[in-house]
Amino acid sequence: MSRTLPVQKNDIIDIIFEDLTHDGSGVAKVDGYPLFIPNGLPGEKATVKVVKTNKNYGFGRLLELQKKSPYRVEAPCPIYKECGGCQLQHLNYEGQLQIKHKQVQDVLTRIGKINTTVHPTLGMKEPWRYRNKVQVPIGEQEDGLIGGFYQQRSHQIINMEECLIQQEENDYVIKKVKEICNKYGVSAYDEGRHKGDLRHIMARRGLVTGEMMVVLITRTNELVNKNKIVDEIAKSIPGLKSIIHNVNNKKTNVIMGDTTKVLWGEETITDYIGDVKFAISARSFYQVNPEQTKVLYEKALEYAGLQGEESVIDAYCGIGTISLFLAKKAKKVFGVEIVPQAIDDAHRNAKLNNIHNVDFAVGEAEVVIPNWYKEGNEADVLVVDPPRKGCDEALLQTIIEMRPKKVVYVSCNPATLARDLRVLEDGGYKTLEVQPVDMFPQTMHVECVAQLKLI
Ligand code: SAH
Repeated sequence: MSRTLPVQKNDIIDIIFEDLTHDGSGVAKVDGYPLFIPNGLPGEKATVKVVKTNKNYGFGRLLELQKKSPYRVEAPCPIYKECGGCQLQHLNYEGQLQIKHKQVQDVLTRIGKINTTVHPTLGMKEPWRYRNKVQVPIGEQEDGLIGGFYQQRSHQIINMEECLIQQEENDYVIKKVKEICNKYGVSAYDEGRHKGDLRHIMARRGLVTGEMMVVLITRTNELVNKNKIVDEIAKSIPGLKSIIHNVNNKKTNVIMGDTTKVLWGEETITDYIGDVKFAISARSFYQVNPEQTKVLYEKALEYAGLQGEESVIDAYCGIGTISLFLAKKAKKVFGVEIVPQAIDDAHRNAKLNNIHNVDFAVGEAEVVIPNWYKEGNEADVLVVDPPRKGCDEALLQTIIEMRPKKVVYVSCNPATLARDLRVLEDGGYKTLEVQPVDMFPQTMHVECVAQLKLI
């Protein structure tokens, strides 16, 4: 027998927003039944229309705000609603930091039953223009090439002149490269027909060094008027160090293909996080907000509490960013990462910084680390920085058996953090404190570092 829902489709009702979902929609409850309504902020009262009901939750549309949140602001970006890249521009920055703090606290308690101190979110002084990497899909209109973003839930390209969370130099590069490609008759890739050429333009900029890289991603090997295009790009972009051509002839949403050639300048640009130097190639993973990355890693380093004699494991080490940070204070660091190219970068970055007390292995953390342990290796401190799905159960069990004195957990997903902290707490650890760090202002993402101690 189906239960009658407290609301029906097309009902018009008054609600109070209690929370935000992970995609920034307001959440209101009617007799415990959650309604998700875009653009509502916690504490606001509104009249809404129910537009869809499922068994356990429904969706609504905001008709009128009766009481506004004191944190509500006008979103500064003119394409905010169409784009969907940001979810929180209608909430002021203080409100954003508070909501992220609350989200971490709620999830840790609800999912993990973790009782610990969650510090206020560490935010940016200037929470705009922070991204060091931009990649825009290219399309065509009557008057030439356009590039910007896919309209929400579609593959329709909307032209974009600027993006307020991008470094301004990146906006300029995209505009300039579009103009130049247009001038020399480059065609845009047409996804439906798998015809045309230019698929994406990507730009990267070293925040500290100002060095820039442009990557042209095309369907075919042949880029019309290649030499002229390269010459003109090189002349018009200050700080340019590298122009790269990547060929992707597959029908896929993946942006880059397997063939990468240097058209002009260097293969890599460099940047610093703190005093560690990184060489970044077109394909390398590199954090998009280096200023906050430094804040995050410094916190991880502080939580690791190294005295210089420790042996440390950095699981899910990527290009070795955290490993190299830790290496300066540890006796030895072992990094593990599943992507072979990332480990090539990690080795190169260690050399670049003259750091010799690090070792990297390619493989799954949940396979490599248990094997190390079986061979008699142990760590005093273990750092993990897994992807959104969190740590594999086998890795958590090995940590519990290996019993490193400290565990530092860097997480981009509070829900899996909470789940994994529960496993570690049941296995003999205590979560001493958790620090949320705002790596992605204007969006719902939140990064955390947790400090655990063996008790
Ligand atoms: N610590 C790095 C990267 C963190 S992102 C930094 O701060 O830059 C998470 C990393 O985990 C990615 O590089 C991803 O390739 C890697 N990864 C995903 N699953 C893995 C697994 N099972 N074992 C090891 N690494 C994995």
